[in-house]
Amino acid sequence: MKKALLVIDYTYDFVAEDGALTCGQPGIDLEMYIVDLTKKFLDKGDLVIMPVDLHEENDPYHPESKMFPPHNIKGTPGRNLYGALHDVFEENKNQIIWMDKTRFSAFTGTELELQLRARGITELHLVGVCTDICILHTSVDAYNRGFDIVIHERGVASFDAAGHEWALRHFEKTLGATVIR
Ligand code: ZN
Repeated sequence: MKKALLVIDYTYDFVAEDGALTCGQPGIDLEMYIVDLTKKFLDKGDLVIMPVDLHEENDPYHPESKMFPPHNIKGTPGRNLYGALHDVFEENKNQIIWMDKTRFSAFTGTELELQLRARGITELHLVGVCTDICILHTSVDAYNRGFDIVIHERGVASFDAAGHEWALRHFEKTLGATVIR
């Protein structure tokens, strides 16, 4: 079975203490797990994709504008990968696909499905933030497209603890995902 790792939205704005829409400490705590898992996939020659939120400044048409403070604005350091993951990306750029996304799901408006199908990948491993937003919506779309889903509990976090717990149950009980604890 061919697999890929999706590292979703692990950027400064979503993770750093002073990020614009941060998960705070639960997000910061994922750093080494995500770094190690990313290196493992790269070492085995498996695909790593980094779907990263992209917003225009003062975009009145974007549905998130009503709900969230501005974050991951085009051309700002808020979109840089957080911590040591930034270096892993820089050192392995030729093996990692960076994928701008503008909605919660990494499938919406991106080439994600085409890139996966082209390589015959059927199993998706997900890490990043937030468990109950972008990880959840990407997982639902992966489920509807027939991919096998693996969620790494130590690699996902949210600013909403109750949402995080609910989503972990949903992955397993409703989407039939494997949750690695
Ligand atoms: Zn966003």
